[in-house]
Amino acid sequence: MAQDSYTEFVNTGLGKKITKALGLPQPAKLRRYRPDAPVIHGPVVLLGSTEASDILARHLLGWGLDVRRHIGPKEKVAAVVALFDSVATPAQLSDTVLAVGGLLKQLKSSARVITVFRDPAHTEDPAVRAARKGVEGLTRSLAHEMRAGGTANGIMLHEELDIASPSVAGALRFLLSGRSAFVSGQFITVDSVNGALPDDWAAPLEGQVAVVTGAARGIGAAIARTLHRDGARVVVVDIPAAGEQLAAVANEVAGTALQLDITDDDAGEQILDHAEQYYGRLDIVVHNAGITRDKLLANMDSSRWDSVIAVNIESQLRMNRALLNSELFNRPEGTVGPRIVSLASTSGIAGNRGQSNYAASKAGVMGMVSASSSQLQARHGTINAVAPGFIETEMTAKMPFATREVARRLNSLNQGGRPEDVAETIAYLASPAAAGTSGLTLRVCGQNLVGA
Ligand code: NAD
Repeated sequence: MAQDSYTEFVNTGLGKKITKALGLPQPAKLRRYRPDAPVIHGPVVLLGSTEASDILARHLLGWGLDVRRHIGPKEKVAAVVALFDSVATPAQLSDTVLAVGGLLKQLKSSARVITVFRDPAHTEDPAVRAARKGVEGLTRSLAHEMRAGGTANGIMLHEELDIASPSVAGALRFLLSGRSAFVSGQFITVDSVNGALPDDWAAPLEGQVAVVTGAARGIGAAIARTLHRDGARVVVVDIPAAGEQLAAVANEVAGTALQLDITDDDAGEQILDHAEQYYGRLDIVVHNAGITRDKLLANMDSSRWDSVIAVNIESQLRMNRALLNSELFNRPEGTVGPRIVSLASTSGIAGNRGQSNYAASKAGVMGMVSASSSQLQARHGTINAVAPGFIETEMTAKMPFATREVARRLNSLNQGGRPEDVAETIAYLASPAAAGTSGLTLRVCGQNLVGA
């Protein structure tokens, strides 16, 4: 992994002075998740409609947080949760928005602003949709304005959804916590009442069995470690050539290794057989293995194009078919359903010069996820994608220095994310508390300036 010496320098006394005087970016040290730490340190201020905020307040109080409706002008604020669930015209945004604005100068470092509102797509009323889209716009803009490692995100509720649904609390907790350190300017949709809050928030995946492909190194190894930390038993998958590294990761997470090329016709069946043989169950599959073979389209050859499509998307479609045909990956109603989480990329959203093959495959992942959602829901499960932006890995360490430095700073947090940041979002989407969210692509990109 390439070292981000600039961020380290900025976070020294002298470094801060010099870089501020020169007007240079100010990447902050981000607050990251620790199972033994509180969800967030300091007061959480609830603003907006009272009925809904009473429901959310009960969760926050249950998590031991200091919940306030008002706060003194000199007090520091850890988070603001702004409820817009009943706005009917853009003119109605004003009171709550300006109240949020009034608190921004009191925010602590790595603070959170979270907006909660109904999905704009679920109304045909122009004024109501305009108001809801307004919440989207203001949340994204606020994310660009946050300082000192702070983020702004939204929770978008289905029209009919009861705000007391477990997955609303699950999304709120994820966004408040250090798990979402590198998620900013994004929206988590909650579409169903499905979901269950864990007895132990430090082990939300207790008793579950997860498979992670491409887990010998990089983001995949981080996913395996994070799922293991959260209580899952983990099968790590990678190509035979990466066997030694794969065995090391398997040992570290007290899991099992499966050497497999995911482009094999029977890769899905091999995964199912392994899970059946060693654990007798399979709950979570993370399609992380992926490759790049960059070339401008004018110079593209069939081996580069076909290999990227084969590894990054065709293999996933084939494996999902096998999973969905298997009783091992099915659940009776009322139990925690199976989960699939795929790795997309911001390149698949915005496109990227030299990556037409990669962007086609990653946009394909997003299409697959949204189209497969109903099939998973029929099994009481979910399928989602995570789109990382610039993440500090061996892959990005190989970029030329200047390109890497620019790519790293081109987001609202002015730094690259870590493999753990991607892993935390995947662990959240795989957890029972996210059962109400399916078909979503969630970006982990520090609000990268490319893409939507
Ligand atoms: P990496 O190259 O470090 O690791 C990928 C792993 O997948 C390797 O261990 C490799 O052996 C394995 N793999 C490749 N082809 C395989 C196959 N056919 N069968 C089984 N295993 C195979 O990559 P990374 O940076 O850790 O990225 C992981 C995922 O995240 C990829 O899907 C990538 O596209 C995506 N992603 C990464 C970034 C980033 O900044 N690093 C950004 C966006 C998306």
